[in-house]
Amino acid sequence: MNSKTPKMSLQPLKCALTVLLGGLLVAAFAADIPEPARPAADNQEARDELQKIRDGISQLREENAKLKEENAQLRKENQQLRRLLAEKDEGNVTLTPTTNSVSGVQTNQGGAETEIQLTHWFTTSSGKRHNSRCRYFKTTEGRLCGPEEGKACKLCGG
Ligand SMILES: [Zn+2]
Repeated sequence: MNSKTPKMSLQPLKCALTVLLGGLLVAAFAADIPEPARPAADNQEARDELQKIRDGISQLREENAKLKEENAQLRKENQQLRRLLAEKDEGNVTLTPTTNSVSGVQTNQGGAETEIQLTHWFTTSSGKRHNSRCRYFKTTEGRLCGPEEGKACKLCGG
């Protein structure tokens, strides 16, 4: 019983497989049929899209060429700058003193600014300076100023 049953069942299995394969092939052909029968409008749209894509590609190529040119220019400029820097290094052996003097000037300026205290009032129309006790202090058109700016007011002494 056991040795007979597998032999018997193999034959129908093969048959079933061939039928299945045949059915798949038919199904594949059937699926292929509608594709060539597409309307012409779709083709036109596809052509338009293709044209758009081609235009885009050509634009990108142009941009790429421009970028390459810019890159080449930048490289040239970079080389020139490097040469200039090298020349500077050769000419002025040390660059640090110049930067030091600049920072020194800056600190001096800061000190000068803090030394002048804006305790007085400068009247623009008369060019006179008033101290904080004067009745013209901040009552006329003008601005705050230092104790030495402009002419001293005769009333308050500046
Ligand atoms: Zn005054």
